[in-house]
Amino acid sequence: MSALNVGVVGCAGRMGREILTAINDAPDSHIAGGTDIAKSGWPGRDIGEILGCNPMGLIIGDDPETLFTTSDAIVDFTTPQAVADHAALAAKSGKAWILGTTGTDAGQDAAIAKAATQTAVVRAANMSVGVNLLVELVKKAAASLDNEFDAEILEFHHKHKVDAPSGTALALGGAIATAREQEHKQVKVFSRYGNTGKRRVGEIGYAVMRGGNVVGDHTVVFATEDERVELTHRAGSRGIFARGALRAAHWAHNKPPGLYGMDDVLGLKN
Ligand code: NAD
Repeated sequence: MSALNVGVVGCAGRMGREILTAINDAPDSHIAGGTDIAKSGWPGRDIGEILGCNPMGLIIGDDPETLFTTSDAIVDFTTPQAVADHAALAAKSGKAWILGTTGTDAGQDAAIAKAATQTAVVRAANMSVGVNLLVELVKKAAASLDNEFDAEILEFHHKHKVDAPSGTALALGGAIATAREQEHKQVKVFSRYGNTGKRRVGEIGYAVMRGGNVVGDHTVVFATEDERVELTHRAGSRGIFARGALRAAHWAHNKPPGLYGMDDVLGLKN
């Protein structure tokens, strides 16, 4: 069987580098190429420079259209502003699009949904196997522990992260709300300051910490009188997201159009 040709948009970013490494390390995968923006200083240079090895004859470009055309699947950890363009190219090329970028707005979400009518899109706020298992465990806990158990979400990320709460924290909150048949937007509480009054029954509180090079910690607490259940995932390196994304690329290649999640990729759906 021939190796899967995987293109990486935003290949010089923190995650882009991890994806290139994961593809390079996987015998069943091949780097189709990479793009980044001119401002990054990387277009025109060889991908081998990013990987710290000899030149590979793969020159980083700034034209995603060519990359979508020449790849079997595209992995995208860029910025929300890049998402609408990439969505249109995924739809046009029909290539599997693995989207890890978080912080998108409603318009960008609509562009993603539209692309998913034309091609296979795997979108996940967190592509690690462990976090996706955590989401399933949290759903089960939320469904069996009723509103007597107050649900709170704590997340901690490195100081460079620009969006808050993290996409993963929001996914955990959404999972709790769905399991409890609540509207997430009605029960979420993103900040508490000053005289907040008593906690409302059923609300889902978020707490955010930023600092150092913490890759990503998430804890969901279910607290009631005299007892507390805490479910935690700690990411040790960004490699876990990259390996998950590469797994998604293999899974999505040649799948029918649709908007898929890591629960589809990992077979976690009931
Ligand atoms: P980063 O800033 O280090 O990397 C982003 C890269 O994208 C940069 O090199 C930037 O120059 C490039 N870029 C920006 N616009 C582009 C465009 N139009 N075309 C090509 N390249 C472009 O950021 P990061 O830490 O790698 O995170 C990237 C995104 O991935 C963020 O939204 C982050 O929250 C998300 N993320 C998701 C997961 C997950 O598992 N889903 C894990 C980690 C990070």
